[in-house]
Amino acid sequence: MNKTDRLKPRSKEFFELIKKVETVAVAGHVHPDGDCLGAMLGLKHFLESQGKKVTVFADLSDLPENYSFLPGFSSITEIVPDFVFDLFIAVDAPNSRRLGKFEAIFKQARYTVNIDHHPDNEQFADINIVFEDFSSTSEIVFWLFKYSGLGINPDIAQCLYVGIVTDTGRFQYSNTGASTFEVARQLVETGVVPVAIFRKVYENVKPEVLRLLGVVLERVKSLDGFFWSYFTLEDLEKFNVSAAETENFVDYIRSIRGVRVAALFKSLGSKQKWKVSLRSRGEVNVQKLSARFNGGGHYEAAGCEVSGSLDEAVELIFKAYLEQINEAEVS
Ligand code: 5GP
Ligand code: MN
Repeated sequence: MNKTDRLKPRSKEFFELIKKVETVAVAGHVHPDGDCLGAMLGLKHFLESQGKKVTVFADLSDLPENYSFLPGFSSITEIVPDFVFDLFIAVDAPNSRRLGKFEAIFKQARYTVNIDHHPDNEQFADINIVFEDFSSTSEIVFWLFKYSGLGINPDIAQCLYVGIVTDTGRFQYSNTGASTFEVARQLVETGVVPVAIFRKVYENVKPEVLRLLGVVLERVKSLDGFFWSYFTLEDLEKFNVSAAETENFVDYIRSIRGVRVAALFKSLGSKQKWKVSLRSRGEVNVQKLSARFNGGGHYEAAGCEVSGSLDEAVELIFKAYLEQINEAEVS
């Protein structure tokens, strides 16, 4: 069976459910990235074209502003209405906890759907449309729409294209495959102009963000293939940068020669709590590494939270990294 054929039965179930509902809530993981936003807004436009009443939820203080050009971005809200939604669609989230403050609406909704590509997805909804061998949730959403036979418009195409481009590192990461290019081809045929998206997403960086990146890169240290750096809340304030604008900092650390794992420690509220972004070059499974600290993600891109001073936090993750590479060498 062809890879995308596996999505056909899920698409059928999804659209049968859609016929039964009127109000739809859509939300993704906390700290939404391009894939999360692209898939959520793509769903919004598609379902609205089917006459549904759709609300896209996200924490507004958490939204990366470089995606504000996406159609529908300004309609994203954090205000929860007092009615119960017929349907809640969770996007790019491996479990309901990752929905953050919108988990409560998920739990109340009459029906739930989970669309995701994380290997650690907990199949937590009534309908689970989970395929880990797809580049992005946006790519899965594309095939869902495709198999509905209803067709997509340029707004939907733009949202899904942004999701795919960002989650594949512009078609370079290991999750990029033939079906990714096939979807991109179809989206371009539907009106997406790649260079226009490139300019908006990648050539639109606030100078302050690059200055902070410079500081973060100056702080990089390394030991045994483990490369790390950090920033604090004071750094963000000093440079007038939001955490959402630092989404790809860790990728620069991964690009350094000799990296096996890149780690970026970001202080969360206090200097005793760190959000850690981990990236690998394929040798080390950082999803497994993060899971040891109750985090998760993908084989080559994952995250978790750890407590303690910076040195303690680095030590914890570094030790787990060493254990994991030693285990791999023994087996
Ligand atoms: P990032 O490092 O860019 O925040 O996240 C990389 C990947 O790991 C994304 O797929 C993201 O959803 C996932 N991830 C990051 N932090 C966590 C976490 O604390 N828990 C889980 N389950 N996944 C995370
Ligand atoms: Mn994703």
